Amino acid sequence: MDMERIDARETVIHRGGCHCGRVRFEARGNQVLSTIQCNCSICDKVGYVHWIVPGDRFQLLQGKDALTEYRFNTGTAKHYFCKHCGVKSFYVPRSHPDSYSVNVRCLDPGSFAVEKPQLFDGQNWERNISQLASSSPQNPD
Ligand SMILES: [Zn+2]
Repeated sequence: MDMERIDARETVIHRGGCHCGRVRFEARGNQVLSTIQCNCSICDKVGYVHWIVPGDRFQLLQGKDALTEYRFNTGTAKHYFCKHCGVKSFYVPRSHPDSYSVNVRCLDPGSFAVEKPQLFDGQNWERNISQLASSSPQNPD
């Protein structure tokens, strides 16, 4: 997307989903997305790129039946995968349990640009989480 044509304050609907297309969602946010990359055991393995969306700005459009849930460690985060294609397009993160983390890699191209990702040291989650939780999800209103 052409960065010069983007109004950073304007919010738009971004749509995305899994690989096979059964899971589809939409989320409202800025055109320029603030993203996080995390090096914890699960994010690192799948190359997840986080965009944190407040719960009231996210809507699952279809595919509830296609989703399966995986939990580990504290069991707080709800990792959702499409059980047909295996793609994790969004989930409920431990760091923001009232929000969703959308996988920017699963958004349809064309509606957004991405800022340089903030790096989160999820290998030392307890030591670093206060820093992440205090940076509130983008909320332009
Ligand atoms: Zn799928």
